[in-house]
Amino acid sequence: MKFGTKAIHAGVKADPATGAIMTPVYQTSTFVHDSPGKHRGFEYSRIQNPTRKALEDNLAALENGRFGLCFSSGVAAIDAIIRLFRPGDEIISAADIYGGSYRLFTKVFASSGIRFHFVPMEDPEKIRPLITAKTRLIWIETPTNPLMKIIDIQKVADIAREHGILLAVDNTFATPFLQRPLELGADIVMHSVTKYLGGHSDVVMGAVVVQEEGLKKRLTFIQQACGAIPGPQDCFLVLRGIKTLHVRMERHCANAEQLAAFLKAHDAVDRVFWPGLCDHPGHETAARQMDDFGGMISFTLKGDRKEDAFRLMNRFQLFTIAESLGGVESLCGHPATMSHAAIPREERLRSGIRDSLIRLSTGIEDIGDLIADLRQALG
Ligand code: PLP
Repeated sequence: MKFGTKAIHAGVKADPATGAIMTPVYQTSTFVHDSPGKHRGFEYSRIQNPTRKALEDNLAALENGRFGLCFSSGVAAIDAIIRLFRPGDEIISAADIYGGSYRLFTKVFASSGIRFHFVPMEDPEKIRPLITAKTRLIWIETPTNPLMKIIDIQKVADIAREHGILLAVDNTFATPFLQRPLELGADIVMHSVTKYLGGHSDVVMGAVVVQEEGLKKRLTFIQQACGAIPGPQDCFLVLRGIKTLHVRMERHCANAEQLAAFLKAHDAVDRVFWPGLCDHPGHETAARQMDDFGGMISFTLKGDRKEDAFRLMNRFQLFTIAESLGGVESLCGHPATMSHAAIPREERLRSGIRDSLIRLSTGIEDIGDLIADLRQALG
């Protein structure tokens, strides 16, 4: 089955009791046993729920993996992955990752004795000097937030395999429509489902997809024992969202291409960060490992003044100032004061997150209206 067909049909069967074509919301905490210890596949909704099962199977199919597991948020999914490891284990993470992942690694897990190393991975060879006998996991995100840097998944997977280390990829920005890390050698794919998979800014959820059965069993144990599961209503909403993922993503990418070209040609704009641009340093790798370049764009203004960025964002009529991304509506954010505010200014500037940097999550509105909004705000 091709992607669009899987998005609509994978994991989903007509309800056996009624023939309902849409997976019902099984809003129940528990399931009747036919006799003690004998149930029909479901016993208690923390352990498994039919609506969640349909979504988990659907996500596994989209990532070309074997097993999907859903969690109550993207961060809960990351938390479950890191719980696979023990005090003394070491994890090498890409330097440029979602701030919440960085916070979880350094403020929660580091104090439990897991050691984290952070390194820029645009050149994957930089990983090798950090590998020790205790290294268990490499963690990457590509494209990265907010500078859209690209990491070569296959090259990192080769290094990981050579040393018997697991590779986990946060695939939130790309989605499985554009990039399937398991096909490139990753062991674990993670999503903030909250973003493009849900797609309508109405659900917070996370997911993990894996190939290997042993890994699936360990993650399922953590999912059931720690209990950070999503409710059936949210699973229903995400199943519905995913049915249009391929159509939405095509439009997100097409709109982003035109916005990036418009911004690049504008006098007030200094730099544009979108992996589809030929002068983006990761363009060739992105063209190899992604099917298109995604809907996220960042740009800086000439003069690099925060006040100019604020003025521009306050003038927007369509781009709404908000955290998050991946919904049908266009959003804009100012990383220095929003998503990356916790990073000291010097460190932030060193990593390229300048004072005038603005991040756009391109929605699927009519492109003429989006460009007109950018033009009037920049004007
Ligand atoms: N990973 C990335 C790349 C994200 O952008 C986010 C949230 O913004 C997360 C993980 C965390 O997901 P959630 O907010 O669903 O917990």
